[in-house]
Amino acid sequence: MVTKEDFIERVEKWSAKLGVEYKEIHFRQMKTKWASCSTRGRLTFDPDILTRNLDFQDKSIVHELLHFRYHNHGKMFKQILSTYLSEGID
Ligand SMILES: [Zn+2]
Repeated sequence: MVTKEDFIERVEKWSAKLGVEYKEIHFRQMKTKWASCSTRGRLTFDPDILTRNLDFQDKSIVHELLHFRYHNHGKMFKQILSTYLSEGID
């Protein structure tokens, strides 16, 4: 379990590493997914993600941040996602 502050710090670290900017971050209970992003730069995460392990959190964070660059789940998206995740942030 991490705090919202810890989680947001992690998102900031990743956004710096990816060179992707976001405007706002929100927490809201979601039924079918863990996170979403809007074209206006707003990230939303289900607060339950705070209870998941860091690998899971990273997967979700990098996934959403990369959508600001790639608006699909294509080959390029998947390749870059897995490259960044294998590098890690810590
Ligand atoms: Zn996606």
